[in-house]
Amino acid sequence: MIRIGNHLPSSKGYMAMAKHAVKLGANTFAFFTRNPRGGSAKPIQEKDILEFLSYIREKNIDKLVAHAPYTMNLCSAKPEIRKFGFQMLQDDIRRMEYTPNQYYNFHPGSHTGQGIEIGIAQIADALNSVLSPEQHTTILLETMAGKGSEVGSSFEELREILDRVKLQDKMGICLDTCHIWDAGYDIVHNLDGILTKFDAVIGLHKLCSVHLNDSMNSCGSHKDRHQKLGKGQIGLEALTRVINHPALKNLPFILETPNDDEGYAAEIALMRKLSQNNA
Ligand code: FE
Ligand code: FE
Ligand code: ZN
Repeated sequence: MIRIGNHLPSSKGYMAMAKHAVKLGANTFAFFTRNPRGGSAKPIQEKDILEFLSYIREKNIDKLVAHAPYTMNLCSAKPEIRKFGFQMLQDDIRRMEYTPNQYYNFHPGSHTGQGIEIGIAQIADALNSVLSPEQHTTILLETMAGKGSEVGSSFEELREILDRVKLQDKMGICLDTCHIWDAGYDIVHNLDGILTKFDAVIGLHKLCSVHLNDSMNSCGSHKDRHQKLGKGQIGLEALTRVINHPALKNLPFILETPNDDEGYAAEIALMRKLSQNNA
């Protein structure tokens, strides 16, 4: 069965998110580990976590894709911003151990004028300083649209980061359909070709999750403006091929579309209807 859900508010704790997911018909979800535009995090409540872990087992909710705050930039030209990002990453990985065996996704970063190569090296250095063989969380690099000085808008750049990370088995990729489309990968006319390229450059075994979004802009626009499924330039037919592609169909699909609860519930129901993954 397709695993699908949306990005949920995390301010009321874990159990509230899980109930929210069930209400929307979801069996996975994403959430910000801390204030997405700041960086402060709520303390973990042990009781909330214990209730949550048993509830998600009962409801078959799994493969959560936590999201790092947007303010985390591991390759800023400013050392204090890199340090702030590193501290958030370190603390988030510690917090993720309370919900073991899930995913933690982050935007690789923006090199802010330092150049791609320095950016890649700084991101990999940060990961090498924080990953441990004992951790139970897989860290995902998100594919980016290539806005400004973003690192990670090509499969080659993501591969370069992965190549430099020592604990390879702790790392994976989250493919954002809006971002790769905006980056210039034409998943509307050539999904097979794009995934073949992904396999050749990175390896499909590294692909752990999909952010399922339509895009307001055209392929190669480097804009990163998400749209509701079927209301953008990717369109429902192409997104249906995404959820049913043999290389993708068993991954968690996370909606990051501009919706309220009702809109999310409708998109989740629609994609369940269009899914051929009934196993
Ligand atoms: Fe993201
Ligand atoms: Fe995304
Ligand atoms: Zn985006």
